[in-house]
Amino acid sequence: GQTILLNNRPEGTPNLGNFKFEEQSVGDPQEGELLVKSKYVSVDPYLRGRMNDTKSYVPPFEVGKPLTSGIIAEVIESKHPDYKAGDYVSKVMPWKTLQVITTEDLHKVDASKAPLSAYLGILGMTGLTAYTGLTEIGKPKENETLLVSGAAGAVGSIVGQIGKLLGLRVVGIAGSDEKINMLKQNFNFDAGINYKTTDDLTAAIKEHCPEGVDIYFDNVGGEISDAVLYHINKYARIINCGAIAVYNETTIPKSLSVQPFLIKNSALMQGFIVSNYASKFEEAIAQLAEWLKQEKLVYTETIVEGFENIPQAFLDLFDGKNKGKMIIKI
Ligand code: NDP
Repeated sequence: GQTILLNNRPEGTPNLGNFKFEEQSVGDPQEGELLVKSKYVSVDPYLRGRMNDTKSYVPPFEVGKPLTSGIIAEVIESKHPDYKAGDYVSKVMPWKTLQVITTEDLHKVDASKAPLSAYLGILGMTGLTAYTGLTEIGKPKENETLLVSGAAGAVGSIVGQIGKLLGLRVVGIAGSDEKINMLKQNFNFDAGINYKTTDDLTAAIKEHCPEGVDIYFDNVGGEISDAVLYHINKYARIINCGAIAVYNETTIPKSLSVQPFLIKNSALMQGFIVSNYASKFEEAIAQLAEWLKQEKLVYTETIVEGFENIPQAFLDLFDGKNKGKMIIKI
């Protein structure tokens, strides 16, 4: 089978040279193991951080070793009593077309309940991030204003819809007019701001959030977030979910001094890692699946075909080429 290794560590913006394809032989599964074939591979902005040799909440990738991410795979051969050939399973696995895995942290996925790719998005880490971040830190109350950055992406598009289901006014920030239309037409957002064409982001936020911002679900960080902080309300809650705008920076970017806005509004800004909320996952998935069944939630995916296109699909996240969840179909 084929595998994709970290060839070298990126400096700044990553490129295709950071990845290396290799042919590897695949052994036979031993007792308790499974031979699986990758079907859908998730690429996620946080993988960028793992390409650096710095300590974080997940260890860095090693040069010369495969990168890993959430993968939905088909069981080809099983040496475990709970699994059989033809089952679909999910976990964080190395980028390989074929591999032998253990059943540790493995989940079965039910292809009859939802399309397989949904288990990497709305019924996977994406949905859990949106739901737990918004409810556990955002603590939404009806009629409040929720502002979402990275709004047309995987997490952001779900956050906004959940906000609407919970009775909030929802405004999104994203990087193209097409995405802004999608937010309003497909995802029920009340308003959207294209940060690439807006001259004055602070003025645009004021215009679209006339009552101020009670909850800011932040997927991007950087200057967009600085602008938002001008408009937060008293007791605002800020969910620091992601900072894709600065993941490729090699120096710590200069930022406005935003602390005064936090102080004068008694605001809460909290860093968020989805795995901290594991005790809520069952409830979250049940609720998301229910809303999906009732068609109260919809989702969009950008599906790229071919194992060989995984690195490019990952790089494209930083150019905003995706709408909704970026997924590679093998
Ligand atoms: P997305 O589907 O949102 O893809 C990334 C999007 O970010 C792009 O489509 C692009 O949209 C936008 N973007 C890229 N560069 C910039 C930039 N410089 N400034 C502003 N926007 C930019 O990814 P996910 O939904 O998977 O993840 C969203 C965020 O949430 C990421 O920051 C990620 O790291 C974080 N995350 C955190 C988790 C946690 O546990 N803390 C779990 C999961 C995700 P556009 O066209 O609008 O620019």
